[in-house]
Parts: sequence; structure tokens; C-alpha cells
Amino acid sequence: MPDAGVHRVVVVGGGFGGLQAVHGLRRAPVEVTLVDRRNFHLFQPLTYQVATGALSPGEIAYPLRAIFKRYANTRVVLAEVAGFDLAARRLQLNPVADAPAPDSLSYDTLIVAGGSRYSYFGHEEWSEYAAEVKSLESALMVRGRILAAFEAAELETDPERQAAWLTFVVVGGGPTGVEMAGQIGELARDTLRGDFRRIDSRNGRILLVEAADRLLTSFPPSLSAEALRSLERLGVTPMVGSTVVDLDASSVTIDHPGGAAERIPARTIIWAAGVTASSLGATLAELTGSELDRAGRVAVEPDLTLPGHPEVFALGDMVRVRAADGRPVTLPGVAPVAMQQGRYAAEAVQARLRGQEPRPFHYRDKGNLATIGRGAAVADIKGLKLSGFIAWLTWLFVHLWYLVGFENRVLVFINWSVSFFTHGRGARLITAQAAEEAGDRPRAGPASH
Ligand SMILES: Cc1cc2nc3c(=O)[nH]c(=O)nc-3n(C[C@H](O)[C@H](O)[C@H](O)COP(=O)(O)OP(=O)(O)OC[C@H]3O[C@@H](n4cnc5c(N)ncnc54)[C@H](O)[C@@H]3O)c2cc1C
Repeated sequence: MPDAGVHRVVVVGGGFGGLQAVHGLRRAPVEVTLVDRRNFHLFQPLTYQVATGALSPGEIAYPLRAIFKRYANTRVVLAEVAGFDLAARRLQLNPVADAPAPDSLSYDTLIVAGGSRYSYFGHEEWSEYAAEVKSLESALMVRGRILAAFEAAELETDPERQAAWLTFVVVGGGPTGVEMAGQIGELARDTLRGDFRRIDSRNGRILLVEAADRLLTSFPPSLSAEALRSLERLGVTPMVGSTVVDLDASSVTIDHPGGAAERIPARTIIWAAGVTASSLGATLAELTGSELDRAGRVAVEPDLTLPGHPEVFALGDMVRVRAADGRPVTLPGVAPVAMQQGRYAAEAVQARLRGQEPRPFHYRDKGNLATIGRGAAVADIKGLKLSGFIAWLTWLFVHLWYLVGFENRVLVFINWSVSFFTHGRGARLITAQAAEEAGDRPRAGPASH
């Protein structure tokens, strides 16, 4: 337990923001407690590679205890944060995974970095049929579904039902949707070619549905066009200006530009559209009277604290930051924002302990990257627009650099190098876990037809 009298900092969330906050405090004269409902840090930018069998779960996740093993002032608590008593400076905790957890934790400074989750635009029921790739569990489920769809197609004798098994729909043409569609394209065109006897996996139809008039709207239009061409080369059909209006176990209905609706039989749908902030954002907004936007992000002051509570920081995907004129600004929902904010919060805590006031948070935009497939990517780095192999190498280097854990970096590097030359994907497994999770779902396995 923390020494009496030592300043207690509790950090909620061992994601990109929380990790940097703890790291920044490692030499500070404080007791740090990191609370997460998972016992690992997940490198979300690569979960789609787990979902397509390119990487294994352990290569993109790292145990929080191992990360902070040598941080003398840090302890890790596996628990879910259920609520806050801001007046008493205490958090309420719930146990997870049958591991006992304290009922509550007291703090002098609280840093909340709870992240976000995918939103289904008010159609939460769609999540049963259209899994996302944000969590490791869901990525494994998607992997199982994609691979099981090819197995089912191989056994199917009815051509229409076979075509439905071989139709993959990715909803959302942002970086995750583009990366996901590109990877399924590679899987169908390249990796699985020749693996089956009755079907040709290259006949797989991959649709990428995006409501905006172009893919990758956070990139310049020329790079969106480049990404579109690269995807088409991989056999992906981008459908821009189109909206998913309904989906179920065996089909998706799409409104095309001009208003024509089309129902497409498809057994595998992947959701990569729209995110909503962690519910911790709404809880904090309610407790402090701070603004909440439609995506559930709570507005924080320019120093990332909550109004009236200079001892409570919130950061990352779950916040908007007020500018000098008081207007909340939405920063991109990307790892560098959360990481810079985590570092800032750690510095701000130390500045306050020295009796100084921190300067307002300022985001330094380092650019945007998205990969499309083997040797293809787009990058927009401070106005420098790159595409093709050079952008892919940049993407590769950046992701290896930021991946947590030296061991993981080495493993991923080896894996990517082998895959590059052999076109293979070693983690093409339909695991019992994925099969179990798919469980009773009507769309899950080859046995349903
Ligand atoms: C599929 C995908 C691909 C992405 N690709 C990229 C990319 O290529 N580049 C990029 O820059 N960004 C990418 N992002 C975005 C990036 O991952 C996020 O912006 C970043 O993770 C936000 O960091 P965070 O600290 O706010 O939240 P997170 O990293 O999500 O961390 C939140 C943590 O809080 C924990 N938590 C939440 N609620 C509770 C609770 N009640 N109690 C205890 N613990 C809790 C969670 O378990 C988690 O560990 C991607 C995101 C996704 C989903």
C-alpha cells in the first residue's frame, strides 16, 4: 500500500495515454497506481492484422505488470472502474476475471484515459453480425469468421449461398476499414490461393462501404485516390457515397448515391465506422457539469483537467480539449494525441507539485499513415505526401518503433519479413475461443447451411 503522506496518483487505463502518463511519472516523488480492466496493453493499430491471421494476439499485446516491472513507484491493479466520488477523491472498482479487487481507491491526483469503442449509430443490434476489431477478443472473432466463411464456401453446393459466404463487407472507409479490406483482399487473392479444392478464394468479393464521397477523409484527396487504386488492385470494390442502412446474419442493405437501395447477400460483415468515447467520459461530464458531445467525449480545460477539479485529468479518445476561447476542439482519435496528452498530464502533475502552473496542452501533429496491403501505403507527414513502397516502409518503421515490448518488436519484424517473402500468414487459425464466442450466432460457422 502507498506510504502515508506521499502524493497518490491513480491512472485509469493502460492504453496509449495511460501508459505515457505512468512512464512520465516514473521518477517523480509520487505513488502511482495504474488501474485497467485488462492485464495487458493492446497495440490497437495492429489488431486488424490479428483479425486477418498476419499476427498472433501475444505479438501486439504486452502485460502491464511486465511493462512496469522496474518502476519502483508504480503498482498495477486489475479492476474495472465503476464510478467516481470526486468530493472524497475516491474511485469505485469492480472485480474482473474472477480476480479479487479493492472496492475503492483513493487518490490525490486522478488521470483518466479510458479510450473509446465502436458505435453502431444507434443500431447496437448490428454488433451481433458486424464485429469490430478494436478489442483482441473481437479481432479473434473476426479472424474466425473470415476463415470459417472460406471453409463454408468450400462445402456449399448452392452457387448463391456460396457467393454469400465469399462476400465480405467492411463498413467504414477510414484507416482501419481500408487496412482491413486490403488485408482480406490479400488473403483471398494471395495467401489462400490454392488452399481449397472446390472454390477459388480469388473469387471472394470484398466491398468497402464509405458514406463520405472518398476514402480516408483525414488524408489529402490525392492520397485517397491512391488508396482507392491500390485497393482495386487487391480486388476490393470501394463503394463511396454509400451508406449501410440495415444488416443481419446473411445480408447488408446499402443506400447508394442517388438513393437506390441494394440488398447484398453477405455472411461476413466487419464494422470499422464511427467511435464513441468510454462511458467514463459521460460519468465525468455528469459529475462536473462539463459538456459532452454526440460521440460521448467530455470537454476538458486547456490543461486537460475537469472544470472545478484541477486534480482530475482526462485525456485521449474520450475527451475534447477547450481552446483559449473556451471552445472544445476535437483532436483526431489517434495514438499520438493520447500519448502526448499522457506525457503532458505527467509533466503537469510534477509542475504542480513544484508549485508551478503548467502551460496549456498543445498537440503536435506528426502526420497520418495508413497501409493498404503488402508494399502499399499512404502517408501525409507535415504536408509531405507519400504513397507506395516508401510509404509502406515508413508505416512499417513507425509501427515497429511504437510497438510496446522489445520481444514483440523482434517477433513482429520477423513475422512481417517472412510474410513479405513467402506471402504467408502463420496465424490463420479458427480457434476454439473464436468458435465458442461465435457460439449460437446464426452466421457463425460453416455448419449453418
Ligand atoms: C482498429 C484500430 C486501429 C487503429 N489504428 C491506429 C493507427 O494506425 N494509428 C493511430 O495513431 N491510432 C490508431 N487507432 C486509434 C488509437 O488506438 C487510439 O486513438 C488510442 O488507443 C487512444 O488511446 P487512449 O489511451 O485514449 O485509449 P486506449 O488506448 O483505448 O486505452 C484505454 C484503456 O482503458 C481501459 N479501460 C477502459 N475503461 C475502463 C474501466 N472502466 N476500468 C478500467 N479500465 C478501463 C481499457 O482496457 C484500455 O486499456 C486505432 C484504433 C483502432 C480501434
